[in-house]
Amino acid sequence: MSDALAPEQPDATKDPWWQAALDVLLPPRCVGCGRRGAQVCAACVSELRPLGSNVCPRCGMPTTEGRVCRRCLGKETSLRAVLAGYAFEGTIRAAILAFKYRARTRLGPFLTGALAAPLTYRPLTIDLVVPVPLSAERLRLRGFNQAELLAHPLAAGRGWPVATDALTRIRDTRQQTELPARERLGNVAGAFGVPRPEAVSGKRVLLVDDVCTTGATLAACAAPLRDAGAEGVWGIVVARDIRVNGNRARVPKGLARVLTSSL
Ligand SMILES: [Zn+2]
Ligand SMILES: [Zn+2]
Repeated sequence: MSDALAPEQPDATKDPWWQAALDVLLPPRCVGCGRRGAQVCAACVSELRPLGSNVCPRCGMPTTEGRVCRRCLGKETSLRAVLAGYAFEGTIRAAILAFKYRARTRLGPFLTGALAAPLTYRPLTIDLVVPVPLSAERLRLRGFNQAELLAHPLAAGRGWPVATDALTRIRDTRQQTELPARERLGNVAGAFGVPRPEAVSGKRVLLVDDVCTTGATLAACAAPLRDAGAEGVWGIVVARDIRVNGNRARVPKGLARVLTSSL
């Protein structure tokens, strides 16, 4: 059954009462610097530098004055845009890895806040939120889908319905992180399917994932959604890899240009 109409989703990142008591006795270590006191300490939060709106409006890579980057110029894609709040580095990277691989789900509220950041300067009108699905095997090993844990609170705060079954993995793929960039698109192309096209037809869909590296996974998710009749597909991630050929892309300084367009 689709959970798109479910009135309330359990928030897996919500603390039980005893957790608060435990925090007093043994405060958590900051994921950024290791100091005790908070999941992410105030000093590490103050050092976070959002990518802001000086990014390519399609792929989210840093560009001067938010121009479309060279890689996206003239390129047709099923994705309208990838929105990313932060570069995949430093405290944000540490938090994502701890959340995903060490099941530190209490970082959920921090990561959801980071995920929502680009919506403040790039508001979207969305009909359906779809977390990028994990393979059954990886879901079994990990016990949870990190994209789903992030998608629910993001959507709940905006009254957007979430459909965790709108997109399914139709074949397993090798973990993208094991592969060089040029092989990633081929690895995931055709890996996703839309079991009930009527559930997405005519809708503006927001795909949610934790990280975007090359954009291959989001593109592979967007293609079948578009084929099924989705009006538009956007991707949103907590962080994106901003390296180009192994070098960190230059992040333009200056005031963030406010984008009012919702495309
Ligand atoms: Zn810290
Ligand atoms: Zn671009």
